[in-house]
Amino acid sequence: MNSKTNKYSSKYIGRFAPSPTGPLHFGSLIAAIASYLDARANNGVWLVRMEDLDPPREDEGAAEKILDQLIAVKLQWDEEVLFQSTRLENYEDALKILTDNNYCFECACTRPQIKAMGSVYDGRCRDRPTPPREKFAIRVRVEDRSIDFEDLVQGNYQQNLKKEVGDFVILRKDKLYAYQLAVIVDDAFQDVTHIIRGYDLIDSTPRQIYLQQLLGYHTPIYGHIPVIVNNQGQKLSKQHFADPIDVNNGAKLIHQALKFLNLNPPEINSSAPCSEQLAWGIENWDVQAVPKLANIKENPLEIE
Ligand code: GLU
Repeated sequence: MNSKTNKYSSKYIGRFAPSPTGPLHFGSLIAAIASYLDARANNGVWLVRMEDLDPPREDEGAAEKILDQLIAVKLQWDEEVLFQSTRLENYEDALKILTDNNYCFECACTRPQIKAMGSVYDGRCRDRPTPPREKFAIRVRVEDRSIDFEDLVQGNYQQNLKKEVGDFVILRKDKLYAYQLAVIVDDAFQDVTHIIRGYDLIDSTPRQIYLQQLLGYHTPIYGHIPVIVNNQGQKLSKQHFADPIDVNNGAKLIHQALKFLNLNPPEINSSAPCSEQLAWGIENWDVQAVPKLANIKENPLEIE
């Protein structure tokens, strides 16, 4: 859809799309702040979408907790939160279009088999005459061509899906829709024009662009910010026991996040209310100043 005629009549629609696998930690707060500041600095709409599509990985109450944390640090979103769990029919429709156009196939290959292929799926089930009897996933066929895009932060990024990823899963063996499909259906549904998110997702972007092309969707502008890692080089996450942010310490955390994004907030701001610091961040936002790095270690930030 033409971004000038979307339902918000804004040229910029951004979004933060957490998965409710646990409360927000400092890493996810940075992603939220970066997408918020980029949207607000461009007079844009900022949406929150809850990516609650994977119940086995989710924590009960995490979705509400994340929203409470965002409110507490004054990251106020526009419109109602969209929950992916309410959108299954839309993913089914997209899957049907892909299937009807013969872009998909069933595949029961196991993880060890894929590992033995060098972790790039080799397309061996593309032309099976009948569906497998065991549990199967649905994969989409990819092409042997480079998909490239200009990342707002990282610059040009390219990937050949056939050589680097292989045909990828859009419906999992447990019949849950894969992130790659759901995310592009909803970015299109919400008319998202700009996606600012963590570098850990940059290598998913060519798969998402490819699906957008197959489904005739508009491709948003992407910017991938560095991901904060602990001193062992691991992304902060529930798996690595990242602590939930303490919203009572919100002012300090926002100050740290602005520094992480290379904005140089004055030290005196560090105890100012969250809303004032965010207003300073909007005023001084410069996406080009965000470091062109995959990771930044948390240690130099001395997060308390
Ligand atoms: N739900 C994904 C996550 O929490 C992010 C999706 C996205 O921003 O595209 O990692």
